[in-house]
Amino acid sequence: MSVWDDLVGQEKVSAVLGAAARDADALVTAAAADEPLPETSRMTHAWLFTGPPGAGRDQAARAFAAALQCVSPDRALGGAPGCGFCDGCHTALLGTHADVTAVAAVGAEILVKDMRDTVRKSFTAPANGRWQIILVEDAERLNEKSANAVLKAVEEPAPRTVWLLCAPSIEDVLPTIRSRCRHLNLRTPSVDAVADMLVRRDGVDPRAAADAARATQGHVDRARRLATDPAARERRAAVLKLPLRLDEVGACLRAAQELVDAAAEDAKQLAEEMDGREAEEMKAALGAAQGGRLPRGTAGVMKDLEDMQKRRRTRTQRDSLDVALGDLTTFYRDVLALQLGSRVAIANTDAEDALDRLARAGSPESTLRRIEAIAACRDALDRNVAPLLAVEAMTMALRAG
Ligand SMILES: [Zn+2]
Repeated sequence: MSVWDDLVGQEKVSAVLGAAARDADALVTAAAADEPLPETSRMTHAWLFTGPPGAGRDQAARAFAAALQCVSPDRALGGAPGCGFCDGCHTALLGTHADVTAVAAVGAEILVKDMRDTVRKSFTAPANGRWQIILVEDAERLNEKSANAVLKAVEEPAPRTVWLLCAPSIEDVLPTIRSRCRHLNLRTPSVDAVADMLVRRDGVDPRAAADAARATQGHVDRARRLATDPAARERRAAVLKLPLRLDEVGACLRAAQELVDAAAEDAKQLAEEMDGREAEEMKAALGAAQGGRLPRGTAGVMKDLEDMQKRRRTRTQRDSLDVALGDLTTFYRDVLALQLGSRVAIANTDAEDALDRLARAGSPESTLRRIEAIAACRDALDRNVAPLLAVEAMTMALRAG
């Protein structure tokens, strides 16, 4: 199982990245042996990954980062580097590789102060002699100042620095930046490709894999979650029951509160699993004495860790809410399909009764308005509107009648 196996239905992108990783490895190997560098190379210093949510642009960038850091002795044999098991691959995928720096937006924008250290690091040589990789997961959230900081770094990168930028579409990135990047667009993988991956890679029963893939419409992570996590299935079932419950104002407000609470609970659970352990590991790494007293001058490091954990909590809550909104969108799309007389494309085959009832109760126009209300809620959350306010506005707009 290599790092490329996680890229579902992206054969073209995998081939381009694999070839680049092979040439990148040849370059590193030649330099280390003091041999002349290859004259041509398919390796590039800046890449832009675009594609719809769930197609796996972050995974593609991570897989490529891992392949560039792969130190398996067999990496040059046969296929592309990226064994998935060596220390380089493993830590790059996990996010703990010293020469892979990931930047993700916390709120609506990536601020220039959040990019300053990263840009500085991009001008330094990698610690392990391979590649200094900077991964920007939400390049569309770079504001003018932070984008300019990145632009300077991308224009004149250090010899071993690689920028990997991810964004929903090419239009989301400043023209000056995208003109300096090699662009790769990922497609939404087919339902069959996702189901096949769940069977092959995660050992999911074929029937359950097909259900999960269809319900999530080519969103790889969500499909895997749904197929392997009973709690995720319960959550989805509860979300799909919401539309029928929204008959009066009180019910809409309660439903909004439930959605927001469930997302907050997800974030809390993840924090409980990880925060304490990370803090202990960090203290041990800093050489804390018995009883937890930290050596002088290391308090800042702990503060950074706490900031990161806080950002992660906000992000988890947002992501979790986004999953529910995605399920609702698919649900109303199904309602619309029924209203327009097409039963073939139904994603939520397990909720057909509810779909039928709502399809009969309204018109295609009212369904479209509801789909727009969900999209508006997502936009509001992206702009950091208080989650409860945004979700209440949505559930009110979804109200039947
Ligand atoms: Zn490897």
